[in-house]
Amino acid sequence: MIGGLHEECGVFGVWGVPHAAELTYYALHSLQHRGQEGCGIVSVGEDGQLRRVKGLGLVSKVFDGSHLAQLPGNCAIGHVRYSTAGGGGIENVQPFFFRHHTGDFALAHNGNIVNSYELRRELEDMGSLFHATSDSEILAHLIKKSTFSQNDPRIFSIVEALNRLEGAFAFLIMTKNRIYAARDKYGFRPLSLGRLGDGYVVSSETCAFGAVGAEFIRDLEPGEVVTIDHHGLRCRKYSDSIRHAMCAMEYIYFSRPDSDIESRNVHTFRRETGRLLATEAPADADIVVGVPDSSLSAAMGYSDVSGLPYEMGLIKNKYIARTFIQPSQELRDKGVKMKLSPVRSIIAGKRVVLIDDSIVRGTTSLRIVRMLREAGANEVHVRIASPPIKYPCFYGVDISTYEELLCASRTVEQAREAIEADSLAFLSEQALFDAGKRADLCLACFNGKYPTPLFTAIENANKDGKF
Ligand code: SF4
Repeated sequence: MIGGLHEECGVFGVWGVPHAAELTYYALHSLQHRGQEGCGIVSVGEDGQLRRVKGLGLVSKVFDGSHLAQLPGNCAIGHVRYSTAGGGGIENVQPFFFRHHTGDFALAHNGNIVNSYELRRELEDMGSLFHATSDSEILAHLIKKSTFSQNDPRIFSIVEALNRLEGAFAFLIMTKNRIYAARDKYGFRPLSLGRLGDGYVVSSETCAFGAVGAEFIRDLEPGEVVTIDHHGLRCRKYSDSIRHAMCAMEYIYFSRPDSDIESRNVHTFRRETGRLLATEAPADADIVVGVPDSSLSAAMGYSDVSGLPYEMGLIKNKYIARTFIQPSQELRDKGVKMKLSPVRSIIAGKRVVLIDDSIVRGTTSLRIVRMLREAGANEVHVRIASPPIKYPCFYGVDISTYEELLCASRTVEQAREAIEADSLAFLSEQALFDAGKRADLCLACFNGKYPTPLFTAIENANKDGKF
């Protein structure tokens, strides 16, 4: 899929390793696909001071050598952001940095809190003033409004605060003495732990471990908070009601193919969905073409089982400015033409099976089908390596309003007509479980079964026309 969906964020943390900010900088490059609108790093120097650099734009734009020199120390957390909840703007770029007489701290968050409206109102009524419009600040205020005394260990307040949150989150909190890493009790967003030298790293995706030379230890469990400090690691379950409802879109589209999520490599997952798709929805055709980059693994899988040759029929221009995937329809439309080119000598005169990972609005699919026909394809059979997306996401993924979703109110045949394909078929939900070798996943944008209560998220969605 080209420019259809966006993840909210990626987080990375380092504890106990020299040049921590520099390592975080390299790691954020690896996580850049999770957010391009802003990024930041906070480090703790030997003097115990927390220092921050953040800005709007790509990691390579916000940071240069001089910025990294302003961030000394062995500990750091970083963040890349794509705005969904709270909108864009520098005030929403993380990590957030809080000054408090009991000790300064920084916070970075990936996901979306579905009871943020209620919590924000409650906290404001108790005197909290929020700097940003995103919901990520709420955890910091909950920690400081804890019923525990300031003399009690901070982890008590953190556990109490985490138990108030509903929704999807991976949080990193850094004080001058330690990093706390926490994952929501449903396990929507990935968060992995690694070893680097004498210290530790935490990352939204394991691909960042490769970038800094870290060794994977394990994934954080849903409902777990890990404390990292000079004593080492301490792990604590903060909730008993846990699920393993990982966002299926992490496997299907967001995460990098070289990342492993809960013991399943992303490329391997996608290739398996392609294999299952070929079994569930065969096509009478000559070649298999994937939409680069996220659908190439599924296209290989489809080719494996169908016996049709896998061809590079579409080429992605890697050097288009990221401004073409900013969140506006007009820019997205331009982006498709600029980003993809058909290879005429491969396409002309062929019956093409076009593999895409998902369909959101369908406008991109329509353009690609037309592009292939203009390049001389005799037939274009579209096969989607996921079920039809019919419902909005409340967990930090920019899935558009109900009216904009191609499949929300159309049959498969109507969707086929809308994208002008010769045939169209989708993967089953069961195939996603089989490809992931797992029994639980969040599939809410496909089937409307939201793993959490939605609080006023539903009411707000109604106002926005999401339902
Ligand atoms: S609703 Fe869809 S995009 Fe959102 S968390 Fe669930 S699977 Fe992911």
